[in-house]
Amino acid sequence: MRIGVDLDDVTAVCAVPFLRTFAAEFGLQLPAEDVGWHTLRDITAVSGEDKDRFRIRLYDGPFFAQLEVYGDAPNVLERMAGAGHELFYITARAEKQRYVTETWLREKGLMDHAKAVHLRPRRDFDPSNPPGRYDASSSARYKVRLADELGLEAFCEDDEVIGRALAESGIHVWLFDQPWNRDLAHANIERVVGWGDVARALALSSGDGPLR
Ligand SMILES: [Mg+2]
Repeated sequence: MRIGVDLDDVTAVCAVPFLRTFAAEFGLQLPAEDVGWHTLRDITAVSGEDKDRFRIRLYDGPFFAQLEVYGDAPNVLERMAGAGHELFYITARAEKQRYVTETWLREKGLMDHAKAVHLRPRRDFDPSNPPGRYDASSSARYKVRLADELGLEAFCEDDEVIGRALAESGIHVWLFDQPWNRDLAHANIERVVGWGDVARALALSSGDGPLR
């Protein structure tokens, strides 16, 4: 099976460290639980322009290089590749993040499991997107287009807008359960709590898996 794999909040733990850094910068108190992208959206004490400036500065620094990997991702991705599935890392991160992204994938032992790493070209960003808002609809168009070009049958994703767009285009979505995507349901969407569920859905054998 040809499978797209999102990075942030599917493979890399991203929203929580982002929000913690954001809260520290602006002197804000985060909720005790279920912190995520919806938390950032609901913060009105910081303007959209300031949210944008913060994000651009953070992403141009060591943020992506320092993200933790979800604990069972390396093992399951290795077993998926070992079972003959063709994996494509597909992220809405900008193309200029390729070096830091690929270095991180190598450090975490994830690079060898994929056929390719796709980041979003500059032309795929929407300049009319309102300040401070994550540009989910142009990310969705980008991922749907790539999924079509690459002939993907399934996709590991957490974003609500992207997950819905992929599902509506006929792709089976393993939607990684996050507090910001709980409203999403579709016939092509299978909610998973983590990589163990993907391994079970693909009936991967535990342990080392078959020889490549
Ligand atoms: Mg994501």
